[in-house]
Amino acid sequence: MAGIKLKGIHDVTLPERIAIGPDLISSANSYIKSLVTTGSVLLVHGKHSYLPLISVVAGINFVELQIDKPPTLGDLLQASEQLASREKISAVLAIGGGSIIDSGKLLSSRIGVPCISMPTTLSHDGIASPRASLYSSLGPSSIAAKVPRAVFVDLRVAAQSPHRFVAAGFGDTIAKKTAVLDWRLASEKGLEEFGDYSAALAGLSADHVLGATDRIATGEESGLRVLAEALVSSGIAMAIAGSSRPASGSEHLFAHALQLLAPNKALHGEACGVGTIMMGKLHGLDWEALRYSLKLVGAPVNAKELHVSGIDVIRSLTIAHKINNRYTILGNGLSFEEAERLARITKVLD
Ligand SMILES: [Zn+2]
Repeated sequence: MAGIKLKGIHDVTLPERIAIGPDLISSANSYIKSLVTTGSVLLVHGKHSYLPLISVVAGINFVELQIDKPPTLGDLLQASEQLASREKISAVLAIGGGSIIDSGKLLSSRIGVPCISMPTTLSHDGIASPRASLYSSLGPSSIAAKVPRAVFVDLRVAAQSPHRFVAAGFGDTIAKKTAVLDWRLASEKGLEEFGDYSAALAGLSADHVLGATDRIATGEESGLRVLAEALVSSGIAMAIAGSSRPASGSEHLFAHALQLLAPNKALHGEACGVGTIMMGKLHGLDWEALRYSLKLVGAPVNAKELHVSGIDVIRSLTIAHKINNRYTILGNGLSFEEAERLARITKVLD
């Protein structure tokens, strides 16, 4: 397990192979063949998005698990038990968007085999992280999972996905600006240990994409490469920290709360981006510059563009601190009036 701290020992597991670039199918195919000498690969995928990468399993025994809508933790636990009793699974290959990669990581942890992550979009930083964002009976939660053994980000495939996903990935990455400040705040309160190295790495991911805003906005390959590297680095920062702390703060709590109150209206990274504008204001950051960068890449910057109501934004701000017991700038929570004022000052509400 990644990043477990025991009696002063900081034990970190990282991916052994990270490849980012165009046309990675044959190198991924060779890698999987070298990894899986007996048994089958469990290919976890969505409806269609995996098709450009399907030849990655050429000449390899595989069983398929198609996931059409984000599964709950219970769904995946059941699937892992059934699959493990029926087939000899030697590795899990997850090809798809956020919930597919998260499902692959969780299944690989449960079955006890390596996971190979092949994202088809750049919408989130779970592509190389040891966490899976899933729904359980308690609502949205981030669950410890295996860090992927290998990550192959095929930029040609990512470039074919709708620009909305790229803009969401940008939002999930600039979120590290406030996440790291929240972590420091919790450590200053004596509530948590602060990891300088992992915090710096997460902050670097955000600075890198902010420095490449123009190229990410136009969707050119060099911009997508910066975004992919930043998303991977953020996942590595989580693996080093042994928690999602460097990558997820009050802006993520807002995004999780919004997903609870207005399910599946905004993408995770889109809500995180808007959360970063508001939490940036609370932290005293230049929130207008963050807002401008989001606008430039075509990411939502207000309730209307998130396809949610103003009241959902305000209510999400008031309940965000209760999503988990992580201390952030939200402290004991915002009142309705404070939340409304924050949303209006930052132009999230008209
Ligand atoms: Zn995120």
